Amino acid sequence: LSKESGRNTYNFHTEELTRAAENRQALESRLHRAIGTNEFELHYQPQLSVFSGHCVGLEALVRWRPENGTPVSPAVFIPLLEETGLIVALGEWVLREACRQAVQWEAEGLLPGPISVNLSPRQFLHQDVVDMVQRALADTGLPGELLELEITEGALMSQSVATQERLSELKALGVLLAVDDFGTGYSSLAYLSRFPIDKLKIDKSFIDGLAQDERADKIASTIIAMGRSLNLRVVAEGVETAIQLERLRELDCDAVQGYFYSRPLPVPAAAAWLEALRVGAPV
Ligand code: C2E
Ligand code: MG
Ligand code: MG
Ligand code: MG
Repeated sequence: LSKESGRNTYNFHTEELTRAAENRQALESRLHRAIGTNEFELHYQPQLSVFSGHCVGLEALVRWRPENGTPVSPAVFIPLLEETGLIVALGEWVLREACRQAVQWEAEGLLPGPISVNLSPRQFLHQDVVDMVQRALADTGLPGELLELEITEGALMSQSVATQERLSELKALGVLLAVDDFGTGYSSLAYLSRFPIDKLKIDKSFIDGLAQDERADKIASTIIAMGRSLNLRVVAEGVETAIQLERLRELDCDAVQGYFYSRPLPVPAAAAWLEALRVGAPV
């Protein structure tokens, strides 16, 4: 590399970084304004029993459609909200909205099982999380058994004594607890026996390699076997093909979630999907 090209590379990177920082700032202030407007909505993705094919629950996934812009992925804006602390406000809205929707579907005879809501690390570590969940249940009238909270391994590992207490308090509300993106965190397996967890969600990265990549397949099989022996439910995330589903059936995985059956659906489509299920039409 000549000095000059080195310098150009440097300038290029600086400009790019500056632009990225500006974009980020703009995105951040747009997000700030968006909270409290109706630019957010929830989509719902079904989870199906591998054994029976029945729907056993739905995961609520937030969507952001800025007033005059293209939709932004939660993979982009959730980390930003997490850094700025705004996640606590949006997270409360998500939780209450999901509970409200679940109560409505339940009243319409459409709710097949619990609604799952994601809690990001900052939300879970926030001192008021237990109160927030309790209020959401009380105000909407949703029984705790019909709410599942998804927490990532990272959040669980950060301070284990406080974590254990918090999980027990949540558990006392009757809610179900799931570990999200299982297998990707920097974690000790010891917590599985200590924490009152109900479910493991195997990360998509291992599901992608099922029956294709020997190592990913072995990790997925080991997680399923371990979950079974600890009496935990195991759900596979991001199931896209019949081959993956077949392999998960062989491995005796409990449930699957993924594009193979359904993408996350906006409310009207999710309701139609649940309705079709109720009348016994093939999904
Ligand atoms: P997650 O909780 O692990 O959710 C699963 C993600 O995988 C979702 O992405 C879902 O749309 C996607 N997915 C499901 N099946 C398939 C599949 O078969 N193929 C592929 N390629 N993708 C699939 P999404 O909705 O973009 O959300 C990304 C992440 O953002 C979530 O990962 C979660 O960590 C976070 N997130 C989403 N909604 C919320 C929320 O309301 N609160 C919080 N705290 N985080 C959220
Ligand atoms: Mg999740
Ligand atoms: Mg996940
Ligand atoms: Mg994820």
